[in-house]
Amino acid sequence: METRVPFLEVSDAIVMSGAETLYWCMQCGLCTGTCPYRLVPGTASEEFNIRRVQRMAQLGLEGFESEDCLFACTTCRACVDVCPRGVDIIGNVRGMRSMLAEVGTIPPSLKPIAGSLHAQGNPWSGPRDKRTDWIKDAQVPAFSDSTEYFLFVCCTSCFDVRSQRIARSVAKALGAAGVSFGIIGNEESCCGESIRKIGDEALFRNLAQSNVNLFNSKGVKKIIVTSPHCLFTFKNEYPALGGEYEVFHYTEILAQALKDGKLKLSGAEVGPIAMHDPCYLGRHNGVYDAPRELLAALPGSDLRELARRRNKSLCCQGGGGRVWMETKAGERFAELRINEAVDSGARTLATACPYCITMLEDSCNVLGKGDVLKVLDISEVIAERV
Ligand code: SF4
Ligand code: SF4
Repeated sequence: METRVPFLEVSDAIVMSGAETLYWCMQCGLCTGTCPYRLVPGTASEEFNIRRVQRMAQLGLEGFESEDCLFACTTCRACVDVCPRGVDIIGNVRGMRSMLAEVGTIPPSLKPIAGSLHAQGNPWSGPRDKRTDWIKDAQVPAFSDSTEYFLFVCCTSCFDVRSQRIARSVAKALGAAGVSFGIIGNEESCCGESIRKIGDEALFRNLAQSNVNLFNSKGVKKIIVTSPHCLFTFKNEYPALGGEYEVFHYTEILAQALKDGKLKLSGAEVGPIAMHDPCYLGRHNGVYDAPRELLAALPGSDLRELARRRNKSLCCQGGGGRVWMETKAGERFAELRINEAVDSGARTLATACPYCITMLEDSCNVLGKGDVLKVLDISEVIAERV
């Protein structure tokens, strides 16, 4: 066996880049056993072992930097919940990636994402002045001094044509529930969640600080988000930059409106419907009940709970920058999820995250299951019945 010499100055640099709990790891391997990559075949499944990656980082060894290894992690948090040492595994992954980003060695597929964020303030190469094109003929008020909530629409739902339907549905449902909300518009920038997970700390800070300055200048106090990724960042990362807000995912606002009798649902029966808990809504932010309360209130609702649900939910594979990286058909977590939903007898798979919609709908089509299962955001199911 080849002897490898540890480079402790490299591991110290990784810790300095944010992997503060790197040395807490005692190499038990529970994280690796819990990781969804164990459920699929393929190169990433063979190359990416989070226990081994952390060991190599502890020793300052090279060899874990590839798209199929360190950048395979979707930051789904399933491993964090089982770690007996309380290791901040995602923080460690972010620290390792950050050290690579500082020397410009992020995977080639992610470089255009960083370029678009620098140039346009969004990762989808959409012109900044088209950020509000999703509105089309919808009624969406502007945020003003007398508006209670600022509605922040995720970049994906601003620029991706499929995802724009989610933004319009959220606006329609909030309007029907009588919520006082408004958007700011083209001055908004990406929340920065994904680019921080990719490791570009400087770019994250630029985006986040620009948003904090904008939101504060407009007098924003309460925010509704369409994506759980924005929820995570606004709640957990913006306060350190001077952005203190009450932040809610739209399902929380609509579920409260339902309880208050302000949101009334009627119309077509929804029938058998399964719920996919997005990692960033559930494990990262603890929101499990609000989406279910909305689904249960739909006309003709027949909620089919999947075996992997709530904090045991299966990742869609879109977090941590993976939504922009290619995963071969036959190796995707979302294919397992689609099969689980079909096997449950559901005719609709509902979720509440633009990344989940992208990954799940793509796999539904690849598997040829589009005629038996519809993948919809909860906002879409609601908006059809208000
Ligand atoms: S579960 Fe925690 S302690 Fe065990 S190998 Fe993973 S990170 Fe290390
Ligand atoms: S965060 Fe998810 S994908 Fe990343 S190592 Fe942990 S379980 Fe695996």
